[in-house]
Amino acid sequence: MPLIALATLGGTISMAPADAGGGAVPRLGAADLLGGLGDLPMDVLAETLAGIGSASMDFATLMRCRDWGLRQDADGFVVVQGTDTLEETAYFLDLGWPSEIPVVVTGAMRNSGLFSPDGPANLRNALTVAADPRSRGRGVLVTLNDDVHAARWVRKAHSSHLDAFSSAPAGPLGMVVENAVHYFHPSPPRPPVLTGGDFGGLVPVVEAGLDDSGAVLSSVAAQPEVRGVVIAATGAGHVSSGTADVIARLVPSLPVVVASRTGAGPTLRSTYGFHGSESSLIAMGATMAGWLDARKARILLHTLLAAGAARDDIEREFRARGDLD
Ligand code: GLU
Repeated sequence: MPLIALATLGGTISMAPADAGGGAVPRLGAADLLGGLGDLPMDVLAETLAGIGSASMDFATLMRCRDWGLRQDADGFVVVQGTDTLEETAYFLDLGWPSEIPVVVTGAMRNSGLFSPDGPANLRNALTVAADPRSRGRGVLVTLNDDVHAARWVRKAHSSHLDAFSSAPAGPLGMVVENAVHYFHPSPPRPPVLTGGDFGGLVPVVEAGLDDSGAVLSSVAAQPEVRGVVIAATGAGHVSSGTADVIARLVPSLPVVVASRTGAGPTLRSTYGFHGSESSLIAMGATMAGWLDARKARILLHTLLAAGAARDDIEREFRARGDLD
């Protein structure tokens, strides 16, 4: 039988009401979650590594989780956490996962105190995906609601539906049906592993919008801990003329990455020419995130900076990882 390592970090899947009528809090560990699944066609080595809401997830916990998973020498690795930052966890682990062994991240939208909690089915599916040899070499996968997503594309697109995760516009990689995984697409070749080192400092995301003078970006970037900034820009990578002035001033000393705030579709490179357009920001020296959204761009930029990347490396890596290939 395959051996699967299971690490739990908390989240709704591990939550139950603290007391009658109270809100849900993390209460269940790895053994509790596994105990609810009955007999399984695999051996599972389970460990509770944390019990937190995923808004409190951090790089240090995820690096501990990655190292624990690698040490188990299993056939697959399942990571359980809250859905709120699950897309960032999956992308971060995907950047730094050095092995062919599949990693599958899952969670739940309904805690165990609600009717029809989805945690048990999601966990059962994640174990199935992790144990399947066809999942090897695909990097980090995410499964919820029977869909299987690539870490590269997945995002939480609804705050409460069971069908909360989307890989728009690429679509899911596959599905779990009758306890078997079915892949619709092969995985593209994986880019080189990127693990980082010193994750100190801050890489904030600043969203562009209406009546935007650039003052927020200017004040955020002035903080001494800031090592780089991601702009969640309007449309295909556009900002106001005031924000464009601020970016022009920042770019010589601070990496500025521009992503689209739309939730799907890439930043453009050469369609518009007004001050604040994508081509004007590129001419200033800003880096475009391509198909990566601002959240993933933040994870990639922080990891690159943690690895000591120079400006040219950042530009090259965003070109390689933010593009479709
Ligand atoms: N909806 C979130 C979850 O699914 C809330 C808690 C969290 O993200 O940890 O887990």
